[in-house]
Amino acid sequence: MSFPAHWDDGTDPSTPTHQIHWYDDRTAIVRQSLRTNFEGPFLYLLLGTDRALLLDTGTGHAPLRGLIEELAGDRELVVAHTHGHSDHVGGDEEFDAVVGRSPEDVSAYFGIDWPEGRGTIDLGERSVDVVPIPGHQGADIALYDRATRLLFTGDSLYPGRLYVKDWAAYRTSVRRLADFVAAGNPVDWILGAHIEMTSEPGRDYEMGADRHRGEHVLQLRPAVLTELAEVLAAAGDEPVRIVRDDFVVYPV
Ligand SMILES: [Zn+2]
Ligand SMILES: [Zn+2]
Repeated sequence: MSFPAHWDDGTDPSTPTHQIHWYDDRTAIVRQSLRTNFEGPFLYLLLGTDRALLLDTGTGHAPLRGLIEELAGDRELVVAHTHGHSDHVGGDEEFDAVVGRSPEDVSAYFGIDWPEGRGTIDLGERSVDVVPIPGHQGADIALYDRATRLLFTGDSLYPGRLYVKDWAAYRTSVRRLADFVAAGNPVDWILGAHIEMTSEPGRDYEMGADRHRGEHVLQLRPAVLTELAEVLAAAGDEPVRIVRDDFVVYPV
């Protein structure tokens, strides 16, 4: 289990459109190059014995399907999303079928009583829990992979600007996710969908920057989720910008 020394930071014009890193032999982390779009989103491919789960399809500015099919092999491919924003669903049309983007579609597919309940998906000897976390967009989910103890948090928690559309829902969701982890679901690393923080604590790149010299690492310790829950609890009911070393809470 490993992370690369650094991700494609957009400064090298010769890099491929996607950087692929195998965290372990059945977990691929894919970064869409910042050269193709400044969002530079991270996609995740989880392989079970029967099925492969692709989380997000990127911005759509670089062909994806061939690459994913190669990585997934002969497994049945399930394409789902951390949430429905365009920089994570842009490649959907390349695929024959994707899980719908509304809370209703997501709930129906994963068997969730939205938003308090929880769902699961069995990939074959690999079970992934699905926790609703609306607030950033509305159909946001976190996924917990019991096998690797990875927690995928989309745009709701990553080293960058955590845009909050619905303050009350977001606070509740972060609390729910922190409670889920505390209730016997240990996390090794939290993996979100972007990097927007520099390696300098509390400092983010300019909006729209497509070169990220000296990026913050992608992976966050579970303590960062606890920290987020605590600062949101302390912040109260009124939306407020909160700058911390590893993230910026950013009401919109
Ligand atoms: Zn988003
Ligand atoms: Zn995003």
